[in-house]
Amino acid sequence: MNTNKYAADRFHMVQYQLVGRGIQDERVLKVMSEVPRHVFVPESYRYAAYEDCPLPIGEGQTISQPYMVAIMTQCLELEGKEKILEIGTGSGYQAAILSRLADRVYTIERHEVLALRTRAILKETGYNNVEVITGDGSLGLPDNAPFQGIIVTACAPHIPKSLLDQLEIGGRLVIPTGNPYNQVLHQIIKLEKGTEDRSVLECAFVPLIGKEGWKME
Ligand code: SAM
Repeated sequence: MNTNKYAADRFHMVQYQLVGRGIQDERVLKVMSEVPRHVFVPESYRYAAYEDCPLPIGEGQTISQPYMVAIMTQCLELEGKEKILEIGTGSGYQAAILSRLADRVYTIERHEVLALRTRAILKETGYNNVEVITGDGSLGLPDNAPFQGIIVTACAPHIPKSLLDQLEIGGRLVIPTGNPYNQVLHQIIKLEKGTEDRSVLECAFVPLIGKEGWKME
């Protein structure tokens, strides 16, 4: 498959899967029409890189459906100057999108194999404002806090307190919560006192495993 074919697939992805479903943030649409999603997908699945579904990336994990990446990114309401924390690096595709929309991105992955692979891809492809960290992201990254936005791409049993503590006032935490059968994506805005919690849509994510997530059996 050649570069032109990927560009055409990307155009269709943006028009039909994103614009067609109501994604309106022009910056998100532009970046998703530019970032080469196929580079972040294992070679054996590249033919399906722009299809309307998640795909396996190894270690029992997935790269999220393009629409889910778009709506989660839109919920962060980025302007370009933000320091963002992502929990669940996976393939690195979401981090690459964020790197073009914010100033600095920290992303945490619990699987060393995925973190190593993604670090190499991001370096090769020139996403230089992203730092990939191996560890338990349910605890956040206190030494680099506060963040103007935090995005969690795995499902938590509840909103982790550590992440709320590391969010700046006015910042957004975008996170799915629930169980394997019933999950809701939240956009949480941190206020001077308390939070505003908006339910965005129903979703299906792999579990957030960690001290403030699900416990390993
Ligand atoms: N954002 C990713 C992408 O663009 O490919 C998709 C991530 S995948 C749906 C969820 C990821 O969260 C998996 O790679 C999984 O290993 C990771 N994960 C689960 N619990 C975690 C934790 N406590 N800390 C860091 N990563 C975690």
